[in-house]
Amino acid sequence: MASTLDPELRRALAERVRYYRELGIYDFYRREPQLSPLTEAQPAGAEVSAPSLSSVPSAASRSELREQMSARKSAVVSVIAEDNIFEIVTPKPEYGIADSVAALKLIRQDLGDCTRCKLHKLGRKQIVFGVGNPRAQLMFVGEGPGADEDAQGEPFVGRAGQLLNNMIKAMGLRRQDVYIANVVKCRPPGNRTPERDECETCSPFLMRQIAVIKPMAIVALGAVAAKNLLAINAPMSELRGRWYDFKPAGVRSSDPSWPGARLAVTYHPAFLLRDPRQKGEAWKDLQMVMKYLGIEPPKKAAE
Ligand code: SF4
Repeated sequence: MASTLDPELRRALAERVRYYRELGIYDFYRREPQLSPLTEAQPAGAEVSAPSLSSVPSAASRSELREQMSARKSAVVSVIAEDNIFEIVTPKPEYGIADSVAALKLIRQDLGDCTRCKLHKLGRKQIVFGVGNPRAQLMFVGEGPGADEDAQGEPFVGRAGQLLNNMIKAMGLRRQDVYIANVVKCRPPGNRTPERDECETCSPFLMRQIAVIKPMAIVALGAVAAKNLLAINAPMSELRGRWYDFKPAGVRSSDPSWPGARLAVTYHPAFLLRDPRQKGEAWKDLQMVMKYLGIEPPKKAAE
């Protein structure tokens, strides 16, 4: 919808959204259009702006999804809408760069010594940008760096990182085959969950990384990553075990033919360290991903 707007109208909308945010208004309601019987009879493949469940595209299911959304969901939608507007008004430095290594470097340069959210002054040692294959078919996304990651500048290098490495290995892949990043790039103090404003400020950079890497599949590690990527407020029991169609919000890919990624949700490795009984469930999630990517597990892992 936004892409059909007149540039002047987009600019005016962007200014209006910024004005509301300065007033402290973050949540916007998107009123559903009154559909005529003729419109309702249109094919189910009509454009849907929010991330959609690939397996359940019916109106009833979309209604159920909306039921699951809290006020947080409405806020996320508003941010996505605003970001879409700003994306059109202000192209990103990496746009038009086909080389993913160079494009990721430009995103990192754009991030700079970031002070965009309060995490920059809450004890971070360094920004943890992301690591791995810039052309990976598979991405893992966690919620934020911990102490080890903050010290080393690389995501998932502590005990949870070791477990993630084992999970990747069990899939028949190497750490350097995939790309690993987090929703926020600075360590929240005391390893607390990143707060809403921090996620909203930082995640556009993750979206840009995803748009450059163009993975076939993304695995969200834990509920925080899943909820931020999908803008769905649901428990892990409902988030896991299904595929979601995913396109990074507010950015465009260097490859217009990239259809977006499929996204699956599994447990965060730190949670699996606390409750190893859930490792079998996580393995089921990874097997679903492997099947989609056509990966045969090494014999040892399959036994
Ligand atoms: S978490 Fe992200 S937005 Fe916040 S200061 Fe760090 S890099 Fe910047």
